[in-house]
Amino acid sequence: MPSPVLEGPVADTHAHLQMLADPACELARAGAHGVAFVETIVDPAEDGFATFDVLPLWLMEAARDLKVMEEEDDGAAGIVAAPAVPHVRIAAGVHPHNAKEWAPELKAALRERLRDRRVSAVGEIGLDYHYDLSPRETQREVFRAQIRLAKEAGLPIALHMREAHDDGFAILEEEGFPEAGTLLHCFNLDAAELFRWVEAGCYIAFGGPLTFKHADEVREAAKLVPADRLLTETDSPYMTPEPLRGTDCGPAHTIYTADVLCEVRGADTPEARAALLAQLYENAQRLLNRKPTPWQKGSSNA
Ligand SMILES: [Zn+2]
Repeated sequence: MPSPVLEGPVADTHAHLQMLADPACELARAGAHGVAFVETIVDPAEDGFATFDVLPLWLMEAARDLKVMEEEDDGAAGIVAAPAVPHVRIAAGVHPHNAKEWAPELKAALRERLRDRRVSAVGEIGLDYHYDLSPRETQREVFRAQIRLAKEAGLPIALHMREAHDDGFAILEEEGFPEAGTLLHCFNLDAAELFRWVEAGCYIAFGGPLTFKHADEVREAAKLVPADRLLTETDSPYMTPEPLRGTDCGPAHTIYTADVLCEVRGADTPEARAALLAQLYENAQRLLNRKPTPWQKGSSNA
């Protein structure tokens, strides 16, 4: 595949590594294409906590795969100079689809896992009124409970909002947006919806939908996000960006979205692209590659 060559490292701030057929291989591929940071999403109600145990193995295997890729590279595969396995952090939280699984034991298990210092966010959490896989009242309750958990832990939240932005925003206003930050994941709406989230200080993450052919309103919205609040992501294995729609998405695909974001933001020289990419990467690091919180440090098992 002819892949864009980027002028700096990029971050995938939302990947479901454990849903990929070969997470280690996808991490190696991501590293080869200049994706230097990945936030992987763990939903204890759906995935359990296996990621916490297998992540070191994926990283070891990815380092091996990357070596092989480098040796086989004939210069045509678009492998970046000095590729490295991405740094991986974890977001853990119960997806609104699974809110009906919420129970005291699940909450206690999640809370305990948040103490793991690899965890840098609570998510994805929120409301999904499109699929309504859990009753809306339950979704709202579980969203509220997890906002409180994030605040207790001093961690930012990663939001999944689908056809529920009014209710979601109202709950956040009532509870108060977490001081550590709020990330609105998979932004695929227009500028009108964007404004209140930006005004509330949220980070806005763009993935595959930014590249879709009929998504001019998403690209218009992407122009308006303050540069220090803009993020790249994939939502892999979902939301594969153009020109690869129809195939499985991996964190490496962040480069397509980052490339379009450069275009949309008017970064049309190598220098301007390098500056924007550096800013995007810095945003991801500031929000998600954070030091352990005092709450995490204060735990007995960390
Ligand atoms: Zn997701």
